[in-house]
Amino acid sequence: MELTDTLDCLRGVGSKRREILEYMGLITVYDLITYYPRNYEDRSKISKISALRAGERACVIVSVMSINETFSKRGMRLIKATVADGTGYMVVTWFNNAYIKKTLYGKKRVLLTGEIEYAYGGMGALAMSAPSFEVLGDASPKGIIPIYRVTGNLTQKQIRSMIEEVFNRGIRATIEDILPRDLGKKYGLMERSEAFYRVHFPQTMKDVALARRRLAFEELYLIQCGLVAMKKQSQSNVQGVKHLANGKLLEKVYASIPFALTNDQKRAFKSIALDMEKDISMRRLVQGDVGSGKTVVAMLALVKTVENDYQGALMAPTGILAQQHYASFKEQLEPFGIRIGLLTGKLTKKEHDEMYEKIRTHQVDIVIGTHALIEDKVKFSRLGLVITDEQHRFGISQRAALEKTNGVTPDVLVMTATPIPRTMTLTVYGDLDVSLIQELPPGRKPVRTFLRSPDRRSLIYKFVKDEIEKGRQAYVVCPLVEESETLDLPSAEEIYEELKGGIFKDIPCALIHGRMKDKDKEDVMENFHLGKTKLLVATTVIEVGVNVPNASVMVIEHAERFGLSQLHQLRGRIGRGEYDSYCIMVATMNSEASKVRLQTMVNITDGFKLAEEDLKLRGPGEFFGKFQHGLGDLKIANALEDADLLLMAREAALIAAENNEDFKNALRLLSVTYKGNFEHILDS
Ligand code: ADP
Ligand code: MG
Repeated sequence: MELTDTLDCLRGVGSKRREILEYMGLITVYDLITYYPRNYEDRSKISKISALRAGERACVIVSVMSINETFSKRGMRLIKATVADGTGYMVVTWFNNAYIKKTLYGKKRVLLTGEIEYAYGGMGALAMSAPSFEVLGDASPKGIIPIYRVTGNLTQKQIRSMIEEVFNRGIRATIEDILPRDLGKKYGLMERSEAFYRVHFPQTMKDVALARRRLAFEELYLIQCGLVAMKKQSQSNVQGVKHLANGKLLEKVYASIPFALTNDQKRAFKSIALDMEKDISMRRLVQGDVGSGKTVVAMLALVKTVENDYQGALMAPTGILAQQHYASFKEQLEPFGIRIGLLTGKLTKKEHDEMYEKIRTHQVDIVIGTHALIEDKVKFSRLGLVITDEQHRFGISQRAALEKTNGVTPDVLVMTATPIPRTMTLTVYGDLDVSLIQELPPGRKPVRTFLRSPDRRSLIYKFVKDEIEKGRQAYVVCPLVEESETLDLPSAEEIYEELKGGIFKDIPCALIHGRMKDKDKEDVMENFHLGKTKLLVATTVIEVGVNVPNASVMVIEHAERFGLSQLHQLRGRIGRGEYDSYCIMVATMNSEASKVRLQTMVNITDGFKLAEEDLKLRGPGEFFGKFQHGLGDLKIANALEDADLLLMAREAALIAAENNEDFKNALRLLSVTYKGNFEHILDS
């Protein structure tokens, strides 16, 4: 038997079973042995009934005293057994299982595993509902039982016996160790075929832990190899753009910046400049908390490419943001003769065509745009640098689309305000070098954050009004646009009407949301930028990047509807100037969980710490889901708990990349594991 054999070589796998297995993603023997248990049941600890308590999970070995079958009015089969082990008795029920009565009738040593409950109306007597069971007879119970995810009518037993068959038919002999020599020893990892066997047939929980560790390492190692390969590829087979050392133009622009750069900003730009001066193309991520000043760093990089007679492109996730960058770059750079173009979806066809022409003939130096930038029709004359702002809004493939040009590969800079923990950065952006901007510009006062219940709203808005009268501006953020029939939440529109018609009737207010036309959105933002509008009622369209330093107050209505990182991004819109700023979250706290979550926002202002908390509260699955790299879920590794393994895997992948044979092996297995998924990324 080979790992690549399809599963219909197994006993009992006909076309029906094969269909279910395929649905579960199981096609080959390799798929099956990497179908890891989701859980284990330790059946080596057998409890006595007299010592059980309701609420715990336990294993007992019992005799079946009586077993009866009844039917409910709706025809549901109910099997009820009384079982005993010499220290006490219990009532056990199963539903809709026609075989149980026959299987268990009169049996002496039956192992039951499940949750202990109080019997219904049983005055403290104990019960189990639908426990798993195994008739032991003379055998002693097996120690640790793997529990798999099952779908359809496939049972645990069937999966187990398929895996058993695979190992009985000698699959272990065909499993080669793919890790570079010494690596296993260096990191104290279990041998590969042993790990595959132990993960399915452990004798102790220690076996499980060791096997898991080896397999999780392997998984992370393969992904890291893929990311390293991506990086290598983009740097090797294409000619990059080689920029010269910083020159006069850059010096002049630098001198015109109205503030001193922070050390982190300086350091980030220095790394970028060095990368740009190499003849392989730059692939760098600038990660900085909201408000840390990434834009100016991007601007300098763009000026550097212009100075070398190249064009630069800056891609923003929303039209509002593109417009904002466009306006500020124009103001700062046009005096130096740098020509800035804007390319968003809202232009007329004629304006589009004109811009395409200008880009093609190098009549613009820096083009700022949205997704419109990556359309096929956009052809740069000499593209030297591509920057994507707020990267998490773009997929890897979109990033790649802009990078594709004829012949030379431009330098690539990615900026993100999503402060993900370092180890996660490696998993998501493992193909990029990272610069961190942690330090905030001087003079910033942390945003003071409050959590209030809706009955305080009139006081809150009175406070907002006072701040506006002092000269500040304010945001009111709402979760929904229109009145909703299903959710009992006030919409942005309703709140806008309420505020404008009431306490803010003498104050210029505006409404902005995602369903407005781009042109209208831009007008609204422009007026807010100019300070003509004082209060802006908004949905999350203002979440990323919007920069109005005079706005220092934000009210977030129904804050419980937002995730922590989203709240942090929203809050990042204020506290951008020298004023005291206030973020007031209005929330109905109907669960302990949402209270804990929102309280975290009050206590923590550092985006990186907040992300770690978010990760803990939500678990890596959900958190990670947002930053998918297109590989689907991790099968066995846990992005949070296996952080140490991830770092080891990264190191190992970098070493392997030096050794052709090891690296080739890893990449071969990677493409098997991800069924071409990774190749797609590698190709793009
Ligand atoms: P983000 O990193 O969230 O994109 P921005 O680049 O929009 O942040 O910068 C936020 C604000 O801080 C802007 O108004 C910008 O002009 C200002 N700023 C950036 N760097 C500095 C600095 N070193 N000193 C003072 N203000 C700065
Ligand atoms: Mg920004």
